[in-house]
Amino acid sequence: MAILVFGGAGYIGSHAARALRRSGYEVVLYDNLSTGFRRLAQGFELVEGDIADEARLRPALARVDAVMHFAAYAYVGESVENPRKYFRNNVLGALSLLNSTLDAGVRRIIFSSSCAVYGIPERIPIAEQAPREPVNPYGASKLFFENALDAYSRAYGLRSVRLRYFNAAGADESGEIGELHDPETHLIPLALAASTANRAELQIHGSDYPTPDGTCVRDYIHVSDLADAHVRALQYLERDGDEHGGDALAINLGTGRGHSVLEVLQAAESATGRPVRRTIGPRRPGDPPVLVADPAMAQRVLGWTAQRDLTDIVASAWAWMQKDSFGSRTQSVRSFPYSRGSVFVAGSLLGQDQLDFDPANGGECDSRKERMSGPDSVGQTKIPEHDARNGRNQEGD
Ligand code: UDP
Repeated sequence: MAILVFGGAGYIGSHAARALRRSGYEVVLYDNLSTGFRRLAQGFELVEGDIADEARLRPALARVDAVMHFAAYAYVGESVENPRKYFRNNVLGALSLLNSTLDAGVRRIIFSSSCAVYGIPERIPIAEQAPREPVNPYGASKLFFENALDAYSRAYGLRSVRLRYFNAAGADESGEIGELHDPETHLIPLALAASTANRAELQIHGSDYPTPDGTCVRDYIHVSDLADAHVRALQYLERDGDEHGGDALAINLGTGRGHSVLEVLQAAESATGRPVRRTIGPRRPGDPPVLVADPAMAQRVLGWTAQRDLTDIVASAWAWMQKDSFGSRTQSVRSFPYSRGSVFVAGSLLGQDQLDFDPANGGECDSRKERMSGPDSVGQTKIPEHDARNGRNQEGD
């Protein structure tokens, strides 16, 4: 069975491509390399093209039995500043891809959606039935395509799984590929970089959220677990056969466990053995206080649960970063003098137990009312004064 992976030269697409191949599928990548990297596509057939280029899509689609669509812009902040770019690619381009897929007679599609479709959720953990009220153009563009899949499923018998990712991070254990974004805005790579000598300090985007330590809580999911879920979603579509007609399923992909920004920094420090240099900045517009998945449906429908935790995520990301021999960041990683006993003991701002909030184990958060409670919750974390006074040396997203 052959699969066309749109956005296969990107971070998550390249991991999914490897997972598919390891499961015995034939894989062809399709990418315009606008945000993807040729090196992430190494070892695979790559069709270079835009998802809006129907003439280019046609022959590629004629060769495959199913498609996976990862080819989207994915910076929330940029989507607010330049919505036109996001709607052009993530909506217009994606519709073109969808119509070409349908015209080619391909009836199975896995879509890379996002927890951004939920906006600021009323309840944590977030179940798939929660209201979809995106608060930025990125989330709106993902929701639009989800709705298109739903309609095409009813009208044309297209079968799809819409996978709503929480915070993807980490790297393939082979060390061949890992997280690459340009520019990089994500917490884990920036935190690891900030533990090296020549890289910018990490700016914590807000420390006054209604969370146990005041920083945002996210559900970090290892990219290899995500990749595995895609294979299972495909197998789900194969297993149930096309005779059942249209079907559009939406599934959260998360661990069900939340980690605050400070907890992530602590994990990064444990992985590198070095302090993560940081400053505290203002909130980043559009950041909900808490996003944690209810992963029950993924378990029930796909038989999938995340196998890796935050420690595994950060360790694999760090291994990839050290191995990565491209770009300036390698220089800084290599040149950093080992200094475990550094003056700045950032990771000790809070004890691990204070940050150990796990909504899946009974914690509850009503983020709209700015209130959180849970078995491990200790109320709002007070950031020590000396830290709050640190200057800001970095722009937000
Ligand atoms: N974050 C931060 N500093 C950074 C990057 C991210 O404090 O330099 C925070 C961000 O506000 C969010 C969390 O880390 O609460 C995860 O952000 P990321 O950009 O990695 O993923 P997102 O949640 O936006 O998809």
